[in-house]
Amino acid sequence: MKDKDTEIVRAYEEAEHWPPYTYRDYPDVTPENLHSFINFLGTENTSREKKELQPWIPFCNSKCTFCYFPTEPFSNDGIERYLLALKKALKMYAETRYVRSSEFNEIYFGGGTPSVMSSEQIADLLSYCERNFNISGDRMVKITGCTYNLDKKKLESMPHYGVDQLDLGIQTFDDNIRKMLNLQDNAGEAKRAVRTARKLGLRVSIDLMYNLPGQTMEVWRKDIRKALELDVESVDCYPLDIYPGTTLAKQLQSGEVPSIGDSDTEAKMYLEAYNLFAESGYKPTCHNRFSRIADDFKEPCFEILGTGAGFFMGHLGKYSYVDVEPANVYIDVVKSGRFPIAKLSVSSKEDEMRKMMMRLYIRLTVDKEEFRRRFGNLPEEVFTDAINRLKKKGLIEVDNREIKLTKLGDVWRVNIAWEFAHA
Ligand code: SF4
Repeated sequence: MKDKDTEIVRAYEEAEHWPPYTYRDYPDVTPENLHSFINFLGTENTSREKKELQPWIPFCNSKCTFCYFPTEPFSNDGIERYLLALKKALKMYAETRYVRSSEFNEIYFGGGTPSVMSSEQIADLLSYCERNFNISGDRMVKITGCTYNLDKKKLESMPHYGVDQLDLGIQTFDDNIRKMLNLQDNAGEAKRAVRTARKLGLRVSIDLMYNLPGQTMEVWRKDIRKALELDVESVDCYPLDIYPGTTLAKQLQSGEVPSIGDSDTEAKMYLEAYNLFAESGYKPTCHNRFSRIADDFKEPCFEILGTGAGFFMGHLGKYSYVDVEPANVYIDVVKSGRFPIAKLSVSSKEDEMRKMMMRLYIRLTVDKEEFRRRFGNLPEEVFTDAINRLKKKGLIEVDNREIKLTKLGDVWRVNIAWEFAHA
């Protein structure tokens, strides 16, 4: 391996130790912290963070064998009742002072599979959001989904309703592996949906997975080449993570499906993707994303107002929250006029300072004046040792205005984030 490759693989291996979903550790909501959150919603939003509105649809047509997300089977009746509750919950937030004084830069339909909704339901939910929230003029609308419930008619309606981007879970173009993962359409159908979306002018971002059972390096290369042929704007490449309790975990244990490669194989597959995407002009961003969308290299939305059964990415001010599940419990809680929150975490000032420094992980610079405005001190006054250590190693640069990664630091940015997480 070339030196540069060794560094990338090393950084990749370190990245794999990044704690994936800390929301599982959030404390259960209590009357006291809920009261504090509701009081907070009664204040003016003075933060300059970019904001995302995320209505959450927990339904899927079927369960992919690797999936550990809190999803539920889709039904026409179920979604109608659910959407009424979802809109009511959105309205509860929209009526608070904090949200009235917030402008949202992005509307993201997350889940689950929001593409299970009909065109009419998508249009209705989108216009509900636009009527009830302050949405910025240059907002992006993104919908996550599966190719098998995006027929031509539904796709054609999307640009008309103002959808800008589809985030599609393709996982692989290999039909045998698709079947094994319980994906509902074949590679030809998936490609057709992507081509149609691209022709309609929609931006398309796809997920691919590697180190899947039976996926050789050659199969993985073919997956990457097909993504390149489809000319998608970005690709999120995820290594297979085996979560206990999933069908795939059981199948691997019983030997029903071939075993997967070791961490060395996995790192080599990542590297293959890194090199092939780089050759075609895609740049790495976030965790495992390769992209040519300029927005992906700008500041992401750090404030996320979302709601839905099992929604777990709420971040408003110093509060992070997870909603109740399943859908029938969510509907009952919302009907009773309560915020449907199951877990609620309140960050301390120290946590917030660490989080701001950890933005280096996603290649953002730390604006020193912004840091002082928020916390009363400069980063060097708070994280003196860590900053000196990283500067000495040539991993960060510090000037009067900002702190940023050096070229070497870019490779080691996960470790740099860890330095601040534990400072
Ligand atoms: S479509 Fe997505 S959310 Fe639904 S089961 Fe498959 S991976 Fe999970």
